[in-house]
Amino acid sequence: MAADPYILSHTTWKTVRGTDYQVAILPWGATEAHNYHLPYGTDAYEAAHVAAESAKKAWDAGARVVVLPAIPFGVNTGQLDIRLCINMNPSTQAAVLADVARSLESQGIPKLVVLNGHGGNDFRQMIRELQPKCGVFVCTVNFWNCVDPKPYFDEPGDHGGELETSLMMHLAPNLVLPLDEAGDGKAKKFKVAGLREGWAWAPREWTKVTEDTGVGNPAAATAEKGKKFFEAVTDRVSGFLVDLASADVAKMYE
Ligand SMILES: [Zn+2]
Repeated sequence: MAADPYILSHTTWKTVRGTDYQVAILPWGATEAHNYHLPYGTDAYEAAHVAAESAKKAWDAGARVVVLPAIPFGVNTGQLDIRLCINMNPSTQAAVLADVARSLESQGIPKLVVLNGHGGNDFRQMIRELQPKCGVFVCTVNFWNCVDPKPYFDEPGDHGGELETSLMMHLAPNLVLPLDEAGDGKAKKFKVAGLREGWAWAPREWTKVTEDTGVGNPAAATAEKGKKFFEAVTDRVSGFLVDLASADVAKMYE
């Protein structure tokens, strides 16, 4: 058996043929600028690592879960004027998601979790449309809000801020530039009160909001904070995977 049979990219047919996988996890990121100091692959990196560690913990607890290769492109319609931000429209994502789910359906893998790493991605409406047409139980988790980040950070931030920077300092320190090269992630707010207060919503035009492409100040980030948050998030997600693996999809309600 492969050393990590819960990571599909590392696993051969020999293992897959003999394993009764219960839950597939699809990490989904984005390819976009993250202030001056974090790489374009940050969201896919975070989603893939959260998925892998959560799957490891769930596997060790007896759940048969498998992480699929991460999808690197997210919804970035507000960043089309930033060089090499690559947009994948929601309608394209819905088609990709449906193809993945239908593949699993035909192979008898009953559950799929989309593990989201990018704020511009929202899989809920896609799942609402897909679910009645597909026999696989599909659900989604945004990794950054399954644990309250406030106890872990001074100011978590939205994009390339303290939370993401700390996480990347823990997961991939070789890909993070020194913090004195980062911008302060200062972001302009909407003038219209409802939009500014957040109870009305519209997508933001990124280059009109922030100079350095960040939203949130990374100055207080440390690898130590990132490690603590990563452990808390992966504990939570792995517990969910264990629960989901043993759940009967015909009896999901109390
Ligand atoms: Zn990000």
